[in-house]
Amino acid sequence: MTLKEIKEGQSARVLTVGGSGALRQHFLDMGIIPGTDVKVVKYAPMGDPVEICLHGYELTLRLDDADKIEVEPTTDTVRQKAEAPKAVSEHLGLGEGGRFHPKGSGDPLPEGTMLTFALVGNQNSGKTTLFNQLTGAKQHVGNFPGVTVDRKDGAILGKADTIITDLPGIYSMSPYSSEELVSRNFVLQEKPKGIINIVDVTNIERNMYLTMQLLEMDIPVVVALNMMDEMTGNGGSVDVNAMEAMLGVPVVPISAAKNQGVHELVDHAIHIAKYQEKPQRQDFCDENDHNGAVHRCLHAVIHLIEDHAKAAGIPVRFAACKAIEGDQLIIDQLRLDENEKETLEHITLQMEKERGLDRSAAIADMRFSFIMKVCDACVTKPGESREHERSRKIDRVLTGKHTAIPVFIAVMGLVFFLTFNVIGAWLQGLLETGIDALTAVVDSALTAASVNEVLHGLIIDGIFAGVGSVLSFLPIIVTMFFFLSLLEDSGYIARVAFVMDKLLRKLGLSGRSIVPLLIGFGCTVPAVMSTRTLPSERDRKMTILLTPFMSCTAKLPIYAFFVDAFFPRYKALIMIGLYVLGITTGILVAFLYKKTLFKGEAVPFVMELPNYRLPSARNTLQLLWEKSKDFLQRAFSVILIATIVVWFLQSFDFRFNLVEDSQASILATIAGFIAPVFAPLGLGDWRIATSLISGFMAKESVVSVLEVLFGAQGGVAAVISTLSALSLLVFSLLYTPCVAAVASVRRELGRKWALYVVLWQCAVAWIAALLVRLIGLLIGLL
Ligand code: GDP
Ligand code: MG
Repeated sequence: MTLKEIKEGQSARVLTVGGSGALRQHFLDMGIIPGTDVKVVKYAPMGDPVEICLHGYELTLRLDDADKIEVEPTTDTVRQKAEAPKAVSEHLGLGEGGRFHPKGSGDPLPEGTMLTFALVGNQNSGKTTLFNQLTGAKQHVGNFPGVTVDRKDGAILGKADTIITDLPGIYSMSPYSSEELVSRNFVLQEKPKGIINIVDVTNIERNMYLTMQLLEMDIPVVVALNMMDEMTGNGGSVDVNAMEAMLGVPVVPISAAKNQGVHELVDHAIHIAKYQEKPQRQDFCDENDHNGAVHRCLHAVIHLIEDHAKAAGIPVRFAACKAIEGDQLIIDQLRLDENEKETLEHITLQMEKERGLDRSAAIADMRFSFIMKVCDACVTKPGESREHERSRKIDRVLTGKHTAIPVFIAVMGLVFFLTFNVIGAWLQGLLETGIDALTAVVDSALTAASVNEVLHGLIIDGIFAGVGSVLSFLPIIVTMFFFLSLLEDSGYIARVAFVMDKLLRKLGLSGRSIVPLLIGFGCTVPAVMSTRTLPSERDRKMTILLTPFMSCTAKLPIYAFFVDAFFPRYKALIMIGLYVLGITTGILVAFLYKKTLFKGEAVPFVMELPNYRLPSARNTLQLLWEKSKDFLQRAFSVILIATIVVWFLQSFDFRFNLVEDSQASILATIAGFIAPVFAPLGLGDWRIATSLISGFMAKESVVSVLEVLFGAQGGVAAVISTLSALSLLVFSLLYTPCVAAVASVRRELGRKWALYVVLWQCAVAWIAALLVRLIGLLIGLL
């Protein structure tokens, strides 16, 4: 039978793992290998995906994927009882005490060499927390070259000549997600002087799988056992000395959140990097394990490819493992000749035959067997931890069959209410008042100094008005991110993805896309920024391209303006109708994307459900600071320039004379050219075109421009019909997002996609508006 057929609460043992390629490797990397015990915890409220527990942690799988895993039911439960504590010896402080070489000897790197470190670990292992502890506030945030995966660099506090780079949270060094590839290439190509491997000790078996691969990299490693506070608080312990002896690298117990052990970690890290103390042991295959099939195969391949690996600059044991697993990227880099490739294949086939497992599973199994040995010898596991018990209780409600969706709606409702109505709005009001006051002061100062009128106009009507209006979004964005980071860091977002996956999967997305889409109803800018948390590049792109269909709050003034003028009696109906239309169009476009642009396979939704944890204030503040900085940088670069350009266009005519009446301006002339495009929609007036163009700057300005150009609402009503007003509403709902949003798309996906979003949204909006008009004409609406 397969894992799909196991009932809630029942256990099973994995027999074979089906599937192929990325998905299968991901299963194996997450510890689903033949012989593993798993327990089905629960099915999501909509019946798919399923949550399982293995190696003492929780994982989600889609039913289709679970169906590929052959199992036999067992009776024993997965989570062990509390063990009798093992003896724990005092940690000797290996490394700086000099166990690997006598103190004062060795061959240190010359003084002043920059010590570069990579911070590597699983997701939710506390990487961000540790990174913030290590670097304080002085960090540089950017992207890895060529890919939009967050990169943060910073110097270790109080240590000169150090740089630590926070790599994306990964589970393995397989090249299957962009994060994994980024991390792997960073280690292989930039060759940091040392690796700090952060391990969540409460989940040590799964976390050490990555450690095994890092030790093969032939770069000094120090292992940081994080969350030690939770471990000891629940009666668990680790014999650190024994673990160091088995792994051959320094192991330091820490608690990143409580800032315990971090100094010791830094000392070790600097020591191993300075003396280039490479891992003492890389040989984890046991010659007695299953007659040593994997052991002999690995060593044969190591000898076979040694010269090639050296020539390619790839650590030889790592290269051998990957070559056996069939990692094409590595095999290509090794440039084996035909004979060697055949020999590799023969050796591997022989191993598969002797071991009774296929190559990937055999290698994964070899790693996990060694981890089991280490854990058996060094780790006293606590019984179920308080944190885990608490998480289970919380999950009874938050992912419960009947409660999950109502709770989700309530939580999101609350976040929106607080952001857009209470905290964010209040802060926004405050900031706007400030900006207005500043504008007034500067305005009168400029008048008093009788500055040139054009310059005066540029500063007040251009820069202050434009940048000011964009700047006023800052509080909303910061507040939104505050709540989101609470939800994310606490572990709730992972649950939302679990609950909503089935729904979003129908659109070709995965559960994780729900959050950006929801934020899109608030503002597209933070929505696009929040897609960074999505693990798959394809999902991320598709999600970003769909967010503009979620009607943002800045469009509300437009709706209000026209509804008041034309449909005062159907206010609520039209408003709701517009939102629904936006969502419906988004869904249709998603289907279209699924069939065309994003045909590829959705990444497997294999996701860890971490314990709920209280997010640290420091992480949260740091994140808010980064987001604000990011936004401000944009406001004062792209948006500043765009503002100046629009101001220029509406203030001058083609002979560069300042215009009195904006009808004579360049903008109006251009709008005059564009106006015929809107004629089929019944919106051929140049003033409408102008207002829509200005909406590109900020949606709110559609209304302000209309007011300026038409006077009161009656003016518009005189020019366009009721049906045209309806078309206009639909057009405003769907057409290009504002400059701030497009700029954030550009940041995430590049220039080409940003341009695509602008053109595509306009096209969709135009077609939808035309349809509305045609249908209206057909049914005889005036
Ligand atoms: P990342 O995903 O690896 O960057 O992990 P984070 O740094 O975001 O941490 C995940 C969660 O674990 C957060 O809620 C942290 O507050 C929490 N956390 C991090 N380090 C510790 C620790 O040492 N002890 C405890 N109890 N919680 C921690
Ligand atoms: Mg993090």
